[in-house]
Amino acid sequence: MTVPFDVDAVRADFPILATEVDGRPLVYLDSGATSQKPRVVLDAERDFLERANAAVHRGAHTLAAEATELFEDARATVAEFVGASPEQTIWTSGATAGLNLVAGSLGYAALGRGGPDATSLAPRPGDEIVVTEAEHHANLIPWQELAARTGATLRHIPVLEDGRLDMARAAEIIGARTKVVAFPHVSNVLGIVNPVAELVALARAAGALTVLDACQSAPHLALDLPASGVDLAVFSGHKVYAPYGIGVLWGRDEVLASLPPFTTGGSMITTVTLDAADYLPPPQRFEAGTQPVSQAVALAAAVRWLGSFDAATVRAHEAQVERRMRDGLRSIDGIRLLGDTDAAERIALQSFEVRGVHAHDVGQFLDSRGVAVRVGHHCAQPLHRRFGMTASVRASAAVHTTTAEVDAFLDAVSGVRSFFGAEAAA
Ligand code: PMP
Repeated sequence: MTVPFDVDAVRADFPILATEVDGRPLVYLDSGATSQKPRVVLDAERDFLERANAAVHRGAHTLAAEATELFEDARATVAEFVGASPEQTIWTSGATAGLNLVAGSLGYAALGRGGPDATSLAPRPGDEIVVTEAEHHANLIPWQELAARTGATLRHIPVLEDGRLDMARAAEIIGARTKVVAFPHVSNVLGIVNPVAELVALARAAGALTVLDACQSAPHLALDLPASGVDLAVFSGHKVYAPYGIGVLWGRDEVLASLPPFTTGGSMITTVTLDAADYLPPPQRFEAGTQPVSQAVALAAAVRWLGSFDAATVRAHEAQVERRMRDGLRSIDGIRLLGDTDAAERIALQSFEVRGVHAHDVGQFLDSRGVAVRVGHHCAQPLHRRFGMTASVRASAAVHTTTAEVDAFLDAVSGVRSFFGAEAAA
């Protein structure tokens, strides 16, 4: 059932938003790092642990059956959230784990493990793995490792000055040697929605596997992963109003059917002898060991909660917040925005530099005004290097962010340079 979107009512769902920082109301603009949790999510996890906690898929007792049902219902709910089927929806501990699973599994495929098609998916010496210059380290380092293990070469699609991907270069780079194209749906620094369909078309024409990092899009954009054309995708629960320790890897049936497991152990097998083991089909094949069950149940509660609002209304609200944040920052002297373009769809996440003031100082100053932002390289060192900097400030909003909070943030930012005496120096 759809409920009307009222940002004040939404805020009342989040206990933490009542927090004060040094007597000032908290303005939480760090949802890109981790989201806050609505009460229904906290209740769902607690309720599971109080009423239904037991090991899933094993015990013959009533609680185990109840826990298993809730766990698999959660999978179905989260699968539906991304337009997928439960069999394509694998629990992970987060996006980092999901990306390591994919890259690690391809590494095993290169050694001959997996189904008949696995070797054709795996990179070989001379093949190329393509990423972008705008990767979070979680979607970069696993591919560096896979390249090193397989003898493949890692290439990247450059980022233009305005933050968009250089698609002309992408068309040159993705070609006959390309085995994998891994890219973010939305960069966690630039907030720009990347052209998924175009990248998929280039990769498909080259016969390459596509891997989508949907960490920053999952909380803000309606996802239909099967329709997006990508082969595999990951996101983290803790950025979608759910707890830590839970994430999702989604994959096309035929890809998942071919890939060998990355982690092995209990709960992913049919028969085990002292010499060998037969594996269950996906998703269990990729879910070795005890799963984050209460977190999965809470993630289902989170996506159900998010899905209770009309998606277009939420999107319009976040777009208004985004516009105000970006226009406001643009109008303040001495601010340089990363990814300053109107020529792309965006989420309400903006990184910037205050000329003459270190990002960490900006962060501390904003904190003294109750405003929580992220400072540093945001796990994207190559992208910062591309813009000639080592650190930036990032403000990222959520469904509960108000335009009044954006104004408080802008007011605080406009005081930074004079506070640090940067105006005279510049
Ligand atoms: N990719 C992107 C774009 C991200 O923003 C993040 C989290 N900052 C990750 C990957 C890694 O997610 P996690 O730390 O939850 O595994």
